This record gives sequence, structure tokens and C-alpha cells, in this order.
Amino acid sequence: MSAFARRKETSSTTQTRNKRIAAEYGCILTGRRDGVDPAHWPVRQSQGAGWGLLEFVPLSRYWHERLDAGDPLAARLVSTAARRYWECIIRRYPEEYLGPPERVKEVMDELSR
Ligand SMILES: [Zn+2]
Repeated sequence: MSAFARRKETSSTTQTRNKRIAAEYGCILTGRRDGVDPAHWPVRQSQGAGWGLLEFVPLSRYWHERLDAGDPLAARLVSTAARRYWECIIRRYPEEYLGPPERVKEVMDELSR
């Protein structure tokens, strides 16, 4: 089956869930729950869209801006905290569409190593 034939979500559905999960979880660096954005941070930095909710991590605006500005400290902190976050949402939201199942499995395998 081609990648295009697979189930796809509308981006607005993904955005709504992203916002809800971001608000529930809080910023992955500070734990703050107010002013938190879903920041683009795909599991594989080399790959583009198609990871569903695994493409985003909740970040407070301050850290989101630093990340988008290319701050290496922000990138380093986010890359560590993002792994814990993915681990948590995979367990906490098993009924949500987090991304294509084979990619979710790939992430779970990698996190369990
Ligand atoms: Zn951003």
C-alpha cells in the first residue's frame, strides 16, 4: 500500500489534538501549562511530515522561540525531553492516532532500547 493510500487525518484534527495534549502535558522543558504551543519536532529530523502527533512536542513560547531561532541549547534539551514525552503519550493516548502504526512501533522499539 502506498503512503498516500494510508489513512490520513485532516491537519485541523491533528492541530486540535496537539493543542489539547500540549495543554494537558505542559511544556516538556518547564512543565508550564499556560502559553504552551505544539512545536514542530519530528522523531526523525531528516524526515518531513507524516508522523502525526509524534511530529510535535509541547513547548512554552520562550523555548519554542529559542528552538525556532536555531538555539543549539534548546535543540539539545528538546531532543532529550522529547523522548520522554513520546514514551509518555504512546502509553497515555493509545487510542489516539499518533501517526502511522509502523512509525509508532519504530519509536517504541527505539525508546525501549
Ligand atoms: Zn515552531
